[in-house]
Amino acid sequence: MTEQSFMIEKLNSVEENFKRIKNEVGEAAVRAGRSAEEIRLMAVTKTVEPVFINRAIACGADLIGENRVQEFLSKKDGLDLDRCEAHLIGHLQTNKVRQIVGEVSLIQSVDSVKLAKEIGRCSVNKNIVSDILLEVNIGGEDSKFGFLPSEVYEKACEISETEGIKICGLMTVPPFDATKEQTSTFFSNMRQLFIDIGEKKIHNVSMSVLSMGMSGDYREAIAAGSTLVRVGTAIFGSRQYN
Ligand SMILES: *Cc1c(COP(=O)(O)O)cnc(C)c1O
Repeated sequence: MTEQSFMIEKLNSVEENFKRIKNEVGEAAVRAGRSAEEIRLMAVTKTVEPVFINRAIACGADLIGENRVQEFLSKKDGLDLDRCEAHLIGHLQTNKVRQIVGEVSLIQSVDSVKLAKEIGRCSVNKNIVSDILLEVNIGGEDSKFGFLPSEVYEKACEISETEGIKICGLMTVPPFDATKEQTSTFFSNMRQLFIDIGEKKIHNVSMSVLSMGMSGDYREAIAAGSTLVRVGTAIFGSRQYN
């Protein structure tokens, strides 16, 4: 196959995949007794070149998610972002905060009080308020970033005092090796945390976004109450890391 026909084939598959996943998200919503509009589909674009991301945007993708600050900033100028929002979904180091504040509309991966405070500080300096989600380590894994379920409420209260940020909800990545049943239980536990914290009516905290579900489990996440699913592989194919 020539390089050009390979490219066309890949662009077409991004288009087909995106449309199919968009439909499936809507169908999963209806099966859960919800409406398709309640769930946002994020195209996760780590390692994906701008030309393919732009094809997804041309098909109606209105939200992309990137994991790394440097990668996002280097691709950003090549992206058709006038019709599409971008979120940061990967672990953020405090020394990178200054570069990303104001560049994305939501930072989903806030996993420490220290990080939240630095986002607040940089936001105040730039005269903006940054929307954030708290990342929850729902499986209590040692190797994973995020707040433990038992501490999320207390940390939300502490972080809510910080100027320059607004907590808009919760995000999670369940354990990779969990069974479907276990994953569904983790998602239900997230939903319960989301509701419980919302009911506390903490000043400056609104539980409006529940970000959970990826290529392998977005249907289960939607059934459990997700409002935002983050899908990479099922849209762009498997990732090549260099
Ligand atoms: C890579 C990634 C995704 C997408 O995963 P897929 O299995 O490729 O759909 C979702 N969320 C986060 C935080 C990720 O890092």
